[in-house]
Amino acid sequence: IAIATGLAIFFGVRLLINSKDAEEVSVQAQETDVLNIPDGTSLEQVYLLLAANGYSSEDILNFLKENESSSVKAFVEDFNGTSDDVPAETSAEEKAPDTTPEYTKLYPALYAEAPTEFNIAEKTIYLTFDDGPSENTLDILETLDKYNIKATFFMSGSETEEGKKIMKQVADAGHTIGVHSYKHDYEVIYNSVDDYLEDFSNTYNIIYDATGVKPQIFRFPGGSINNYNSLIYHQLIAEMTRRGFVYYDWNVSGEDASAHATWTSIYNSIMNGIECTSSGRAIILMHDSAGKEATVDTVEDIITELIDQGYTFAPLDNSVMPVTFTYEP
Ligand code: ZN
Repeated sequence: IAIATGLAIFFGVRLLINSKDAEEVSVQAQETDVLNIPDGTSLEQVYLLLAANGYSSEDILNFLKENESSSVKAFVEDFNGTSDDVPAETSAEEKAPDTTPEYTKLYPALYAEAPTEFNIAEKTIYLTFDDGPSENTLDILETLDKYNIKATFFMSGSETEEGKKIMKQVADAGHTIGVHSYKHDYEVIYNSVDDYLEDFSNTYNIIYDATGVKPQIFRFPGGSINNYNSLIYHQLIAEMTRRGFVYYDWNVSGEDASAHATWTSIYNSIMNGIECTSSGRAIILMHDSAGKEATVDTVEDIITELIDQGYTFAPLDNSVMPVTFTYEP
């Protein structure tokens, strides 16, 4: 695990270098047999190909160990510190310039404790609420409290006194607070990695000030891969992972972002979604922002039905195996 994590972090840094090749690589991902990487393919491209095809860091490590390509072999040897012959082109004077992106130096306190391993619990429901806090958050807290259930709130970082009070209440009640977004404006936050980090840092600081808890997990607005971040999502993921943060997408949605959502539509979306999960392990997306009264009305009925069906409820923390979207060309 330590090696895999190290690799992920190392790759995280490496793959930032080649951001401009993202489109080219995604095309290759459709056409190339990923288990047969041609010699000379850059390691960043190898990583992107494998990651785009849903390989985990551990899979990638194993793949690299088995791969015959000389550039991949050299990398593995280098990574393991077993390389004994130094290629001519890496002599001191000709060393490649430091290509570490500038944004890795921003916000030097913005780091989290990365987990050493992930747990997978079957038949477990993770209720998650985005875009709070609002008055609706308080109603949801009451329902959760009634059934002694802990959930997860990906918060927007309200600066009002009332908003901060609600955040503190959520934290004090034992729920997990994750970072969501301060501006929640896709075009602004996904304009660049710098812009994303600025927005993340603002939200993080507000949550920390209000609750005294340093968030360890987060959710990307719109999910980790969306129409607004397709050119930079791999850089964003790499940078946030390098900083130790774990992100969670969802595998079940209440579809309550729509203003037309009703009790029936939310209830059915969630119940049908859970039936489609392979092991009854569901990270459910809902919203607790203003105007989401239909969600508030639905939460208790969802809880009682799922308790009847024998499900367990748990809050997310960074040791829970994430659900993450994969790239689909
Ligand atoms: Zn949101």
